[in-house]
Amino acid sequence: MEYYSEKINRLIEELGRLPGVGRKSAQRLAFHILSLPKQRVESLAFAIEDAKKSVAYCKECFNLTDRDICPICANPSRNKRIIMVVENPRDLAAYEKTGKFNGVYHVLHGAISPMQGIGPGDIKLKELMLRLQKDVDEVIIATNSSLEGEATAMYISKLVKPAGIKVSRIASGIPVGGDLENIDEVTLLKALDGRVEI
Ligand code: ZN
Repeated sequence: MEYYSEKINRLIEELGRLPGVGRKSAQRLAFHILSLPKQRVESLAFAIEDAKKSVAYCKECFNLTDRDICPICANPSRNKRIIMVVENPRDLAAYEKTGKFNGVYHVLHGAISPMQGIGPGDIKLKELMLRLQKDVDEVIIATNSSLEGEATAMYISKLVKPAGIKVSRIASGIPVGGDLENIDEVTLLKALDGRVEI
């Protein structure tokens, strides 16, 4: 038995598809949106559509950006000879928040997972190898500490080492299913400082 009319249900359904939003939260959000002035709702809808339309991958690091090159890669004071490899833009943001890493990043957009049928060709690995043809001193692998993250780290290490580039693995990455907002910066900095060559 449905309590709401079709269009309200549709809104609740769409909101409920967002990560971390259960049925109850979706209902609360839906009614909140419906209570807003028309202009606010239009502005929200526009922000979603506009961001989706204009955000693409940075041509260098594959972070999400609304420019050709993201602000990190475009910053001349960042050390381009040190590349930290992360699984996704949220991981990048977590390390960036520490404000202590002065190198650049490479966003893989996933991790190798034979179980889920994700192979090396499905993540931005080829693109990483291309970047390594320029002068690079160190590749820091900061993939998650999940099975997939570890497998990806090993794979990258085997790929990069023959090129004579130093490869290191952070001491303990972002934990599996860890909520990035709750990982404090000190933990991330310790992981980064305690990285070991592999
Ligand atoms: Zn970039």
